[in-house]
Amino acid sequence: MNLEAPKQITNYIAGDLQAPLNGKYIDNVNPATGAVYSQIPDSDAKDVEEAVGAAKAAFPEWSTTPAEERFKILNRIAELIDENLDALALAETNDNGKPLWLSKKVDIPRASSNFRFFATGLMHFATESHNMENGTINYTLRQPIGVVGCISPWNLPLYLFTWKIAPALAAGNCVVAKPSEVTPMTAYLLSVICREAGLPAGVLNILHGAGPNCGSAIVAHPDIKAISFTGSTRAGKDIAATAAPMFKKISLELGGKNPNIIFADCDWDKMMRTTLQSSFANQGQICLCGSRILVEESIYEKFKAEFIERARKLTVGDPLEDSSRQGAVVSKMHFDKVMSCIELAKEEGGTILLGGNAIKGTGRCANGYFIEPTIIEGLGPHCRTNMEEIFGPVVTIQPFKTEDEALQLANISDYGLAATIWTQDVSRANRVAAKVHSGIIWVNCWLLRDLRTPFGGFKNSGVGREGGWDALKFFTDVKNVCIDL
Ligand code: NAD
Repeated sequence: MNLEAPKQITNYIAGDLQAPLNGKYIDNVNPATGAVYSQIPDSDAKDVEEAVGAAKAAFPEWSTTPAEERFKILNRIAELIDENLDALALAETNDNGKPLWLSKKVDIPRASSNFRFFATGLMHFATESHNMENGTINYTLRQPIGVVGCISPWNLPLYLFTWKIAPALAAGNCVVAKPSEVTPMTAYLLSVICREAGLPAGVLNILHGAGPNCGSAIVAHPDIKAISFTGSTRAGKDIAATAAPMFKKISLELGGKNPNIIFADCDWDKMMRTTLQSSFANQGQICLCGSRILVEESIYEKFKAEFIERARKLTVGDPLEDSSRQGAVVSKMHFDKVMSCIELAKEEGGTILLGGNAIKGTGRCANGYFIEPTIIEGLGPHCRTNMEEIFGPVVTIQPFKTEDEALQLANISDYGLAATIWTQDVSRANRVAAKVHSGIIWVNCWLLRDLRTPFGGFKNSGVGREGGWDALKFFTDVKNVCIDL
């Protein structure tokens, strides 16, 4: 098959690629060039209605399709993603601004892994039975919910889109899904792949459009019984408010302000290499990035000097060039937000140790949205810069004296998604890991992902867990059957 990014994207409803019913479109901008390069449907409640109708019609057959058949189709989707790696990676980079080598190495391979993982998982998904002393048997049924909604953000577009869709489909549901309007292209290409893979019409419906028009109509639709959402805490609150009185199941993966806690006894080289990544990978636009770096006082000055030198060498430039370690941030709106956060840090009394400026691109990137990797010190833990998510190539560093102080600083945040701990003392590693209020803890590593593990956050970082059996459990309704023999 020949996957090409079209000038005008279509929705994918009932197996067809079709224009939005209202005929309206939104411009799609390449953030590395600042130029509009395609248009996407500005879908609304009418398109959602049609997609839900298609999903409802497809549900009886898909939910009873033998597991092995469902496995074959989902696995075929994974194969087609692999076969089209280059086209998908280029589309991801053009939409998002991330380096092409990163799209090729991480985003697209992970999207096919998601499908493969849940395709095989559905073949092994089993339920429990609880036997009582008098011979009574309880067994648990886990049944597909029906039509479910999946809404995803722009930072890891196809990777996070498939992280929801694959388990929803594997569990036997039909899906109405919406990617971010900022990065729609790979989701569109996925719809072409699904047609080629033989996914029956209506099983997956992909709508394009803005959060307030299309996303909120998905959340509010009475026949969509569960919502899996990844995005900002702000939108997560709106979604929870709509879904709660309708008693929908919700899974919310939201923002973060993750601490990276560095003790003096760490493996220095590994810590330095990894901290550079956990600070600036994907232009700092990963919910798991460690944006608050806490460093034990005895190594603070040494850390600061070396970290600045290493970050200074990160080449920011055209994402299509192999030499670019950093690409563009995702949009003009996000560029303005990150730059205003840097201004705020200065107003709050922070010292910019490195970066802090926009970068003027060259050649085709002259109007792109590039920001220098930025390191800030001198700010207290309660200031807005240390409390609010920036989601860009911006980190702060703060010293601490004791383990207790490190924990206090780490846990001050209203967020609780992830944390990184650097120490060679195994007792301390376990002690601190148990006390940090975050759902995902990395010790002496970062972003190592085993798809079987529970993924999600505490506090304002969300509700529920994705990954492994947790995802398949979320996308099923549970029933206990009690039989008195
Ligand atoms: P966003 O909340 O603006 O948008 C996310 C998606 O939700 C988009 O598809 C958008 O169109 C849609 N949307 C927006 N408002 C909506 C509403 N009221 N109802 C329904 N849908 C709505 O987030 P973003 O700017 O695309 O992504 C960045 C955010 O995502 C950051 O806060 C980041 O931390 C978070 N994120 C979290 C995780 C995680 O796993 N916890 C992973 C990646 C990104």
